[in-house]
Amino acid sequence: MRYTTQFLLSAMAESQFPTLRQPEIAFLGRSNVGKSSLLNALVGEKAAKVSSTPGRTRAINFFLVLDERRTARMILADLPGYGFAKISKSISAEWPKFIEPYMLEREELKLCICLVDSNIAPQESDLQLIEFLRNAGRAFVVVATKADRLSGNERTRNLAALKKGLGVEKILAVSAKTSYGLKELWARMEEVGAAGIGE
Ligand code: GDP
Repeated sequence: MRYTTQFLLSAMAESQFPTLRQPEIAFLGRSNVGKSSLLNALVGEKAAKVSSTPGRTRAINFFLVLDERRTARMILADLPGYGFAKISKSISAEWPKFIEPYMLEREELKLCICLVDSNIAPQESDLQLIEFLRNAGRAFVVVATKADRLSGNERTRNLAALKKGLGVEKILAVSAKTSYGLKELWARMEEVGAAGIGE
């Protein structure tokens, strides 16, 4: 299936969240994890550009994904990067006020994509995010970025360390640069789109 994506809106308050009833997929990760590059590789340059526009980096940027028939299939939510502050009591302490209600209460939110860097050891802030999502009862997948920078052996070793450190059974390795793993990630996202928002 070929998809097109269009920018919907930037929200900085709960009242601004989209009113289109579509399943939403949130992208989360520390600053510099490769979120813009991944969005870019998944849905086109527009997304990354919008999300890096000054003033929009602290917003949730929403993108509508349409299929070949121009039917809306899902909405991607690009969340602000975290991990700026060296010491924060919890991941949510760093977020602008409207992010937590989105993560906790948003009915349309069906999947969280947690990005971690495949080149570095498990980070405390990533673990905090995963624990936050677990407590919130949110479905999530951990996706390790920049996999092209690693040899096969290094990749196996780093993914094992990340799984152990983050306490997850599966991690999907991807590369925005070579498109490695992107098909599998799309397949997971399509499942969410196909399931709809339920009643
Ligand atoms: P963001 O802050 O999470 O949006 O991260 P960016 O997408 O801006 O990427 C941060 C840095 O990592 C940039 O220098 C990118 O070129 C680099 N980067 C991102 N994705 C990849 C990747 O798949 N492979 C490699 N080798 N570098 C990447």
